[in-house]
Amino acid sequence: MTKYNFNAGPSILPQEVIRQTAEAVLDFNGEGLSILEISHRSKGFQAVLDEAVALMKELLNIPEGYSVLFLGGGASLQFCMVPYNLMEKKAAYLNTGVWAKKALKEAKGFGETVDFSSADANYSFIPKDYSVPQDADYFHITTNNTIYGTEISNAELEAIYQKCGNVPLVADMSSDILSRPIDVQKYALIYGGAQKNIAPAGATFVIVRNDVLGKVSRYIPTMLNYQTHIDGGSMFNTPPVLPIYTAMLNLRWLKENGGVAAAEKRNIAKAALLYKTIDESRIFTGTAQKADRSLMNVCFVMKPEYQHLQDDFMRFATERGMVGIKGHRSVGGFRASLYNAMTIEGVQALCDCMKEFETDVIKG
Ligand SMILES: *Cc1c(COP(=O)(O)O)cnc(C)c1O
Repeated sequence: MTKYNFNAGPSILPQEVIRQTAEAVLDFNGEGLSILEISHRSKGFQAVLDEAVALMKELLNIPEGYSVLFLGGGASLQFCMVPYNLMEKKAAYLNTGVWAKKALKEAKGFGETVDFSSADANYSFIPKDYSVPQDADYFHITTNNTIYGTEISNAELEAIYQKCGNVPLVADMSSDILSRPIDVQKYALIYGGAQKNIAPAGATFVIVRNDVLGKVSRYIPTMLNYQTHIDGGSMFNTPPVLPIYTAMLNLRWLKENGGVAAAEKRNIAKAALLYKTIDESRIFTGTAQKADRSLMNVCFVMKPEYQHLQDDFMRFATERGMVGIKGHRSVGGFRASLYNAMTIEGVQALCDCMKEFETDVIKG
C-alpha cells in the first residue's frame, strides 16, 4: 500500500533524495567510502557544504553581507543563541505558539521582554494589533506555527516590516523555509531546524546579516557565538555531515523543480485542496482563523457532534495509508503537514479518504 507521509517533523523528503542519500551511505562519490565515515575536512565534503550554502543563497535570493550556516543544536538552541548574540537590554516577541513561547522564555533570561500573543485564543490566529517598541534590540517572529496551523501571510509580513522600522527582525522559519519566496534583506537573522523542509534531523540552518553581530557587551561562549561559526565556515567543530549532504541533495531537487516560487504555487494548490475539503465537510472543521491559515500544516478537528468518531477516522485513514495525521496534543484532532515534498496526489488521497468516511457516517 502507498504510504502518504503527513508527519510534522522530521518529515517527508523527496523519494529521489532519500534514494541518493542511501547510495552515498554505501559509496560516496564512487570513492569507495561511505558518507558516514569520511572526514568533514575532506575535499569531497567541503564541496558538499559549499554547494548547500550556495544553493540556499541562490534559492532564497540571499544578498551580499549575509552568512549561511549549518549547525547542530536544533532551532531550540537558537532560542538562546539569538538573545545571547543580539540582545543588550530589551527584545520584543510575537508569541504565536509553543515554539514562540519557548524562544521568549530564553530571552527573559537576558533582559526585558515585551510580547504580543494570541495565547488566550489557543493561538488560533496571528496578532496584528500591536506596535514594535523602537528601543527593542530586535523583534522575533515565528513565521509558521507548526503546532497550531497558523502562518504569517505574505501581506502580514509586509505589515511587520513596516512596524519594525529600524528594529532588526529575527525569524524562526523552521517549518516554512523554502516553501515561499522571502525578502531576506528585511531580516537580521533567520533560523530553523532543517528537519521540516530541508533535511533529516540533525542540522540547523542560520542566515545572519554579518553587521548585526559584535554589538553586545557580554562574553559569548565560543560555541554559542555566531561569529565563531562564520569564521569557521560551519566547521569550527564537526558539523552534521549526513544531514548537510541530504540538505544539498534536497536543495538541488528544489532547484530542478523550479525553485521556491514554483514550490509556493504547488503549496498554495495543495493547501487550497485540503482546506476546501474541510470547509465543505459536515463533520470536520478547521481550527485556525482563515486569514492566518498555514500552507504547511493544516489543522482540523471533528465538529462537536461528531467528536466520538475521532478514533474511527484515525483508524479509517491509517488503513488507507495516511501517516502522521494525529494533531498535536495542544490542539487535538488532526494535522496534515504539506511540506514541499508532499505531492498534490497525496493531498487528494487524504481528501478522498475524508470524503469517503463522511459519506459512510452520514449514510450509517
Ligand atoms: C520543530 C520546530 C522547532 C523546534 O525545532 P528543534 O530543531 O527540534 O529544536 C522550533 N520552531 C518551530 C517553528 C518548529 O516547527
